[in-house]
Parts: sequence; structure tokens; C-alpha cells
Amino acid sequence: MTDSFDVIVIGGGPAGYPAAIRAAQNGLKAACIDDWKNRDGSRAFGGTCLNAGCIPSKAMLESTELYHRAQVEFQAHGILVEKLGLDLGTMQKRKGEIVKQLTGGIGALFKANKVEGLQGRGRFLGDGKVEYTDTGGKKKTLTARHVVLATGSTPIELPSVPFDGKAIVDSWGALEFDAVPGRLGVIGAGVIGLELGSVWRRLGAEVTVLEAMDQFLWMADEQIAREAARHFKKQGLDIRLGAKVQGAKKGKSGVTLSYEDKGGRQELTVDKVIVCVGRRPYSDELLADGTGVTVDKRGFVEVDEECRTGAKNVWAVGDLVRGPMLAHKGTEEGVMVADLIAGKIAEVNYEVIPSVIYTAPEIAWVGKTEAQAKEAGIDYKTGSFPFAPNGRAKAIGQAAGFVKIIANKRNDAIIGAHVIGPMAGELVSELVVAMEFQASVEDIQRTVHAHPSLAEVIHEAALAVDRKALHGVNR
Ligand code: FAD
Repeated sequence: MTDSFDVIVIGGGPAGYPAAIRAAQNGLKAACIDDWKNRDGSRAFGGTCLNAGCIPSKAMLESTELYHRAQVEFQAHGILVEKLGLDLGTMQKRKGEIVKQLTGGIGALFKANKVEGLQGRGRFLGDGKVEYTDTGGKKKTLTARHVVLATGSTPIELPSVPFDGKAIVDSWGALEFDAVPGRLGVIGAGVIGLELGSVWRRLGAEVTVLEAMDQFLWMADEQIAREAARHFKKQGLDIRLGAKVQGAKKGKSGVTLSYEDKGGRQELTVDKVIVCVGRRPYSDELLADGTGVTVDKRGFVEVDEECRTGAKNVWAVGDLVRGPMLAHKGTEEGVMVADLIAGKIAEVNYEVIPSVIYTAPEIAWVGKTEAQAKEAGIDYKTGSFPFAPNGRAKAIGQAAGFVKIIANKRNDAIIGAHVIGPMAGELVSELVVAMEFQASVEDIQRTVHAHPSLAEVIHEAALAVDRKALHGVNR
């Protein structure tokens, strides 16, 4: 192995590994150092996303949604199941296999692109030098013309509710339960809390979600958040807002969480607790003294729009830097940096990054909420259209929710789009592309959408912006 590279990427998650691949595609000699260690001691590229985040959570969401639908919907299709059963072991095994296939695929991609994949720890020493400690503990100093920091993030621990890996766990632990908890407490009604709460609720757990904020899904459009709250309530998720958790006590009957809400001091006893109160950037032991890289008070490496740190030829991407903690945001930053290093023109459009919550119904959006449009002083117009009259939604038996489009009245440009309903995470892509190409509402109105398809609801919502929806009341 050579010790000298054009680009060394520290961190092999969805921000880091694509940066290394693109650097190699650009003809640069690239290495990617990654430290991920699974609970069984095995090593794998892919970071949080592939090993403990996006992928295993989506695998569990799919399996549990199927189980739930088999219970409540199959009969209406005329499918009679004599005795529906749950084999959690097989469900977990399936999830593990998906993770393994995808993480293993990164090794193959590295090989195909001639990226040097190095398992172990990286530490930036400054001046183009990176200390690499291999999995056996042996140290070596590598050099690079450019260094990309991509060490991601880690769950925030509440000092009053410390993780014990058994009864009080983080999101990774919550994906690994080997039995369905009878009573489950989830601290935090953010994206991860709602997804994990849904997984275990569908398998029969009594789920209570404690959220410190008074507003539900503050980051989503208010109308969407209201609709989502209605569905989650119907599904039996007990979401308590304004509930500030103060402590946890373990006893024979489970874990008793104490919290304060409008009604005063409250207690909740559960069998397991998932703490999902957010993630913090992970830069522990990443930087030697005097590298010139600045880390802010919250632990984020400071970067400009192009992900340059203050130090020459040192870049940082993904959850380690400002912006939404999302895999696709990190990937685009990594690719942008690798292109900029190769002297190409590249950028990330931070105004057009989609967010998805993979609950049922799914929730997805891009751009501004109505409140943000109002706050920005934009003279806007909106159009909404429900899935209820849509033929495809009816055929698949998932006709809850709606699409809402927000546009600038002055030039008809789409400035925000919000979907709650079936396959929202897929549907939102049309609106992402539209916004990226600065499409007007009329562009969507005049685009032919296949029939019958869920995307027709986007078409109708665009028509509804100008009160021209064909199959329902214009809102
Ligand atoms: P990470 O994925 O955290 O990767 C960083 C890597 O760097 C890790 O492998 C780490 O071990 C390694 N590392 C750290 N320090 C060093 C070092 N010094 N030397 C070498 N290696 C080091 N996002 C979405 O977009 N969609 C989703 O559906 C989604 N679902 C999620 C579900 C859950 C339960 C969780 C927890 C997260 C989810 N996320 C989702 C968020 C997503 O996982 C992160 O935004 C994404 O993984 C960040 O990518 P990253 O490459 O910046 O960091």
C-alpha cells in the first residue's frame, strides 16, 4: 500500500465513501479510512446510514407495515389468512442481510474504482498528514494533497436518562430488540422517534412518545403536521407534547420516566426506552492541535458553502457540518468536494433538499413551508389535493393524505411542496426536480402524468393552485 494520496477521506458513511469514489472517477488517487464497528465486532463501510440508520430502519418499517396491513387490510382484498404470526427473528435476519449486502457492495465499488478502503481510525495531523491506526492498533502517517473530513454524527445522550444498552437504548439499539416490548417509551417525536415508534407499535407495543416541544413536527408544514398527528393517534401512538423528561428510575416493573408538562410532574413506566433527542457531530479525537480546522461550540466543523474548512485543502462534509443531518445531503456534499478538488464546477443547492419521514402515511417535503413563505414576506399561493379520489391510491388501499404546493404569486415559481400519503418519499422527487429546474406551477400543470398513478395527485395539486383541479374541490 502506498502512503501518499491525492485525496484521503476520513469516514466511510454516505458522505465519505461517495467522495472517495468520485475522486477516483476524476482520476485522483483516493483512500477512505473508516472506523465503523458492528456490535458483533465485524467491520463495514457505510457509516450510520447503512449499518444503523436509514437502511435497517426502512427494512423494519417495510416488514412491520406488511404485518400490520396483513392484519387490517388483507380481508378487504379477499385474502384470508388463517393464522397470522410474527417471527421477529426472521424479520431481524432479513434486515441484517439487506445491511450486509449494501455495506459489502461498498467494498466492491472501492475495488472497481480503485479506491483504497482502509479500516481503522484516521486523525488529521495538519499540513496534508493523516495518522492512520489500523484495526490491529498499528499507526502509520499517510500524506494527501487534500483531506476530506466525513466522520458523521452520534446519538445525543440525555444525562438524566443514560443509555444502558438494555432497557434504555439509542436508535441503533431500538432496531435490534429481540422481543416486542410490551410498553415502549420514546423520548423525542422527531423523524427517528416517529419511525421507530411506528415499527414497534405495528408489532403490538404500547407506545408513548414524550416530546419536549409544544408543537408537533415543527419542521413540517403545519397542515401536514396536523394531518400526521391525526393518523398517528388513530394508529395508537400516544404522543405527549410539552413533556420535558427529567429522569429515569429502573425498578422491577420497568423504567419509570419522570417528566414535567402543563399539568405538572408526571410519571410513565415502560419496559424499554428509546432516546431519540437528536444527534451531535462526531469529531472526537479527529483533529490534532493547530490544524487550522475550526470546530464550533456544538461540535460542527465550520465550513463555507463549498465545504471548505479554514485550513488549506481541508474539506468537511455530511453530518459533521451545518445543514440537515440527511444521508443524501452528505452524499451531494462529498461528490461536490471531489469535483471541486479535480478543478470542476460543482455546487449543492441547499434550498432544494428533500426530507422524508417513512411512517404510514409517509411524509415528504422540499422547500418552504407556508409559515416560512409568510415569514419571508413572499406573496404566495397554495393548492392542495387529496389522495382520496385518486384511482391508484384507491386500488392500493392507501388513499389517506394530500399534496400541497406553494408557489410565488409573482412569477408562478414553486417554492415549497409537501406530500403526506402513499409513497410520499418517491413522489416528492418530481417536485425536487421541478424546483431544481425552477419550474413554474404551470409547467407541472401542462406535464402529462400517467393514469392511474399516485403522481396524478401532484398534477391535481398544481392545478388546484390556480383553482383548476379536475377531480375534486379546489382548496
Ligand atoms: P455517518 O453515516 O455517521 O458516517 C461516518 C463514518 O465515519 C462512520 O462509519 C464512523 O464510524 C466513521 N468515523 C468516525 N470517526 C472516524 C475516524 N476518526 N476515523 C475513521 N472513521 C471514523 N438520513 C436520511 O437521509 N434518510 C433516512 O431515512 C435516515 N434514517 C435514519 C434513521 C436512523 C435510525 C438514524 C440514526 C439516522 C438516519 N438518517 C437518515 C441520518 C443518516 O444516517 C445520516 O445523515 C448519515 O449517515 C450521515 O452521513 P455521514 O457520512 O456524514 O456520517
